[in-house]
Amino acid sequence: MAASCYFFVAALLLLCSGVLSFPVGQEKRDATTCGYQSCHATKPSMLNVHLVPHTHDDVGWLKTVDQYFYGDRNDIQHAGVQYILDSVVDQLLKNPDRRFIYVETGFFYRWWKQQSSSTQQTVKQLVNQGRLEFVNGGWCMSDEATTHYSAVIDQMTIGLRFLNETFGICGWPRVAWHIDPFGHAREHASLFAQMGYDGFFFGRLDYQDRTRRMKAKEQELLWRASDSLTPPMADLFTGILPNGYNPPEGFCWDQLCADAPIRDDPDLEDYNVDDVVQRFLRAAKSQALVYKTNHIIMTMGSDFQYENANLWYKNLDKLIRYVNDQQGNGSNVNVLYSTPSCYLQELHKANLTWPLKTDDFFPYADNAHNFWTGYFTSRPALKRYERISNSNLQSCNQLEVLGGPVSRKGLFGQGDSETLRKAMAVAQHHDAVSGTEKQHVANDYAKMLAKGWQHCQVLVSNSLASLTGSSAERIYCDNLNVSVCPLTESSSKFSLSVYNPLGRSVTWPVRLPVNGTVYAVTDAQGKPVDCQVLPVSRATQEVRRSRGFARNELVFQVQAPPLGYSSYSVSLLQDGRPSSSPQHQAPTSIQNKFLQVTFDPDTGLLSGLSNLETKQAIKLSQNFYWYNASDGNNDESRQTSGAYIFRPNSSTPVMVSSKARVEIFQNSVVQEVRQWFSPWVSQVVRLYPDSKAVELEWTVGPVPVSDDQGKEVITRLDTSIKTAEFFYTDSNGREVLQRKKDFRPTWQLKQTEPIAGNYYPINSRAFLKDDKDQLTVVTDRSQGGASIYNGSLEIMLHRRLLHDDYRGVGEALDESSELFPDGLVVRGRHLLSLEPPATAADTHRPLAQEVVSQPLLSFTEGDLNPNARLEFSGLQASLPPAVHLLTLSQWDEESVLLRLEHQFQSWESKASSQPVTVNLQKLFSTLNVLGVSELNLSANQWKDEMKRFDWSPEKETLTSEVNLMCRLSSQSDVFASCSSPAHLVQRAEVDSLTCLQSASTQ
Ligand SMILES: [Zn+2]
Repeated sequence: MAASCYFFVAALLLLCSGVLSFPVGQEKRDATTCGYQSCHATKPSMLNVHLVPHTHDDVGWLKTVDQYFYGDRNDIQHAGVQYILDSVVDQLLKNPDRRFIYVETGFFYRWWKQQSSSTQQTVKQLVNQGRLEFVNGGWCMSDEATTHYSAVIDQMTIGLRFLNETFGICGWPRVAWHIDPFGHAREHASLFAQMGYDGFFFGRLDYQDRTRRMKAKEQELLWRASDSLTPPMADLFTGILPNGYNPPEGFCWDQLCADAPIRDDPDLEDYNVDDVVQRFLRAAKSQALVYKTNHIIMTMGSDFQYENANLWYKNLDKLIRYVNDQQGNGSNVNVLYSTPSCYLQELHKANLTWPLKTDDFFPYADNAHNFWTGYFTSRPALKRYERISNSNLQSCNQLEVLGGPVSRKGLFGQGDSETLRKAMAVAQHHDAVSGTEKQHVANDYAKMLAKGWQHCQVLVSNSLASLTGSSAERIYCDNLNVSVCPLTESSSKFSLSVYNPLGRSVTWPVRLPVNGTVYAVTDAQGKPVDCQVLPVSRATQEVRRSRGFARNELVFQVQAPPLGYSSYSVSLLQDGRPSSSPQHQAPTSIQNKFLQVTFDPDTGLLSGLSNLETKQAIKLSQNFYWYNASDGNNDESRQTSGAYIFRPNSSTPVMVSSKARVEIFQNSVVQEVRQWFSPWVSQVVRLYPDSKAVELEWTVGPVPVSDDQGKEVITRLDTSIKTAEFFYTDSNGREVLQRKKDFRPTWQLKQTEPIAGNYYPINSRAFLKDDKDQLTVVTDRSQGGASIYNGSLEIMLHRRLLHDDYRGVGEALDESSELFPDGLVVRGRHLLSLEPPATAADTHRPLAQEVVSQPLLSFTEGDLNPNARLEFSGLQASLPPAVHLLTLSQWDEESVLLRLEHQFQSWESKASSQPVTVNLQKLFSTLNVLGVSELNLSANQWKDEMKRFDWSPEKETLTSEVNLMCRLSSQSDVFASCSSPAHLVQRAEVDSLTCLQSASTQ
């Protein structure tokens, strides 16, 4: 099978046993009554108003996901999803014209499980008739700024799979629906296109962008969401909804609203039909002015609405009747119950061309001083925990496949990957990993992830027991980042197994908390491994609080084969005083064979970075600063910094310290410079012998707020790279986008917040470059970042705020816990590489994958079992460097879902941005591949059956291309040259005309 495109993901279902027939779950049902066929008729000569009854059900925000489902804690917010679904189903049955869309499969699944089989039959009928329609269909509506693409694909997959298996073809969403996320990522659009969606709707975009688009009638557009995939593979029709996702003013008939009902008995007082109809006609006509076709959409619903659906439907029935009655009096407005897909179908039928967009919708501002760029960093500890949980889930999925059925029920009991998969799916929600939920809800997300990981641990232990042939109990140490692991701290003999979820072998530094001073480490072949002991840093001792008592850290490098594990044995040789003591004089440099890192001896700060192989050298200084958060007293906008919004009260950040106190440790395994900036900021600069990146491990917190000032803490790298106001950030960890200071590619920006208005989400990397040098920073979680000065990159690490920012969460982002009553301490890593721009991706792509899918360590007490299999690889050979094994998970008893990804953008590497071929028959060492079928990205449709609406971009974006070609050819060649590129073929006639015109003017 050829994974032949750049930056392409192939999703494959592999049959590993059984017979060659395996349904995806999509029953071949009669689809003539649902989907596009079930749309109500419209009137071509009139303005058609599509009323879309909907509810927006956050999978956790002010209440936990369970509290929302049951309608518990209505004192916090009146919201109960179970009642919404009960009520909507009742009301849909009362009138076959009525429509409803449902979005969050995570909620629907809970409700469905509790229904009687007769209710389930009724609901199936509603779905089969297109009266209840699923849109989006993921487990949740994911956040777009802080999610990683692998977790987004997973959460979409489980939601869509449930719909497929429960409702067949009629449960298949045709439209992606992200009405609430706070800005929109290009990679999300690309993923949706590859999942087969016909279109996408959202509600929030920058207010300046919206104003311009309204004037230009460009609120509906074609988003070309990849610069690597050939159009229209990543093209997605995108519609911006008129009122966010709310009804037009005055037409909200939910029990949560206060608008007047339609009072239509002329014998009673307050008869208001004429007034309502006239107001509605005005609203419809004014909306039509800013859209292109004679169809407009109105979202009739909002957060947690339709709990008593009778209110909405009774009034909507009347509205439709009375407004359409006016057609007899010459009105040309036609109102109908509709869905986003029915609306989309009409736009498609209009056969127009649409403006083309190739950048993204970040950052989002709802007004001049209200940039939603704080949440890129909010709750940094939760963001990291979510990312680690994703890594653990991928390992768990893979080991379920590699270990076979005994993984789920084996030596250590019953384990599963399902619990963590669902917890991860919930965590992708736009008020989960985004950090914009209340504190008790954030705690609940973390608890669900922890519980999921416990279930996975049993599975992993079972699988490893089966693969190794050893029944020793396995221990997992989840607090190694703060040097806590009871087993290694107290044991004089233990073994470690390193499972590597990547499709190529990795070398990885391991740091284990210990109390001895000399250890012997041997690998799976019994060969000694170089290891060293360093004292635990003071910062670590403070951060771990009372959880551990290790004095030292044992450091060594491990290697693990592709999709496999390797085992190491550790024995204590000597107790006593630490063998290595630090030098306290300021260092001038540390270096390995690839990199040299220099320090300013006077300040202890970084001063330069060189790549010794390529002979590149840049000036590089790094320091920590904070912005004082606006407390709302600055000006009349009264905007504060909060969970969503970043609003510093000055553009000049405050330096934590101009100097760092340093300790330096240098040995054969690691060189590290420990920098101490203040009681609440420290850092370790580390270089391992085989690494092409220098590690900056930062520790920040508890952020002091005794001065009554909220603070937003950044690290800033100032370099000699000539960036000319550009810098680069990834989109959901995948393709990279160019950013320019005070600039938006599609409109003339009036910059009103010089700092916050230049922040962009960073999911796994950001870089600075000029012609010669590229400095790439790989992050270990999503963070916000900006390039405010030329050659400078700042990344926000931690936020502690004292005020709510008035966007609904109703709490200040002021995290503390039992262990950290004085404020949360957060630790993380940045990996810095310096390369020539033409080859930088060859380093940062694999580096970021190692951080995203990190090795999973497990420990056993005592000696290694000599009869155990100490090393194992699930692959016959490493995958080619361009190919990333994104997913390997058990689909059903007989088949396995495999996703292979070409992980390089078309332009970023000469060596790696090339088509690759992978032989599936010879891929796995233990799986016998009996058959393969290719699926769409979300695995809910066979690839060869995937058919999407085709959309045409507006001409002007093509004309430059076309004119260029025309200029290169003589007039007689014009027709041939214009119609030859594949994506122009369908518009050959129009384009030819343009060519003739432009050719004749030459
Ligand atoms: Zn929401």
